[in-house]
Amino acid sequence: MTFSAFEFTIDEYVTANSRESSDRGWEQSLTLSSHELVEFPEEAYNDENRDRLNILVASKNQIEQIPSQILLCTALKRLDLSKNQIRTLPKELFQLPNLRYVDLGSNLLCELSLSFTDEVGNAVSSSRITHLVLSNNKFTVISWWVLMLENLVHLHMGANLIKSLPSCIDRLRNLKDLYLGGNKLMELPESVGSMHQLNKLIVNDNQLGTIPDTLTNLDQLKSLMLHGNRLKVLPQSLIKLENLEELSLRGNPLVDRFVRTMNMYHVPSLKELSSRYVVNNRLIFNHDDLPKTLLQYLKTSQRCINPACSGVYFTSCVEHVKFVDFCGRFRVPFLIYLCSPSCEYPEAESTSSSDSEPVMGASPMHLRRVLLG
Ligand SMILES: [Zn+2]
Repeated sequence: MTFSAFEFTIDEYVTANSRESSDRGWEQSLTLSSHELVEFPEEAYNDENRDRLNILVASKNQIEQIPSQILLCTALKRLDLSKNQIRTLPKELFQLPNLRYVDLGSNLLCELSLSFTDEVGNAVSSSRITHLVLSNNKFTVISWWVLMLENLVHLHMGANLIKSLPSCIDRLRNLKDLYLGGNKLMELPESVGSMHQLNKLIVNDNQLGTIPDTLTNLDQLKSLMLHGNRLKVLPQSLIKLENLEELSLRGNPLVDRFVRTMNMYHVPSLKELSSRYVVNNRLIFNHDDLPKTLLQYLKTSQRCINPACSGVYFTSCVEHVKFVDFCGRFRVPFLIYLCSPSCEYPEAESTSSSDSEPVMGASPMHLRRVLLG
């Protein structure tokens, strides 16, 4: 399986020890990938390099620890230690004054990799890291220290074991790209909608059953990856995401079931029909005249979502898929429930007044383009 969501490459890997960059003057880099190293390379902080080394790449080795001497690498801007065996982090990593980009993808890190003390907390909160790659590690939550990196712009935590996001995720208020594909998320906190800088929200291949209405507040969102989840319905407020350029929905029950079967309707039972009559007509009855189970049942009525209908239903309803335009770029299916096949939902809510075709009449090609494209 390819998780393109968390692939991240440095475009400036260089194998020579130094190069000239017209923009930045001299940049000193050291590349030691695939060298079968078991320890962090001392060359990084020896007398010759430590004040000048800007980029250190030592991926695809067997390194288990980052030593505290890393604090000597005062000029370090980029550090790539992906594909190693690192389990713990030193607080000194966060004290490097120029460090911006850290790739620790494909290691053995988890939320216990850095223990909290006041001293460690102070070190982390002083960090200027903007890019952090922690994909393909062992995190089950987003660690406290990640949430303290308030300068983060890009956070990659795809392919971990994360089950939930804390509501304080919105502390990362400068975050533009949040990659969480291939985790075990069952829901997103409403506070995600407060992360106003977000351009990309990548949450494909999780177990999301719903997404919060608050996503509609993400004015800058361009890319929303929701494929491979358990979504049965999308909030209609999504149509307000006017800057959205990329939306993926494939591999959700909404799409799959919609393609296979549409409008499965079970004829309501006599009990449901008579109960609907009782509720719809507000019939007055004596509570002593009805069995408890029926009284209980009468309380479970649900109002039909159709604004043109005032009816209720109990367990028998019609699934109606309503297409809504996204700024003329997408036609997105929203699943809604109506009280009966004769209950007609007004199509006037579409943001485009043209071609609001009836769903049942949509051509297979059109569905493929909308649902799987
Ligand atoms: Zn209705």
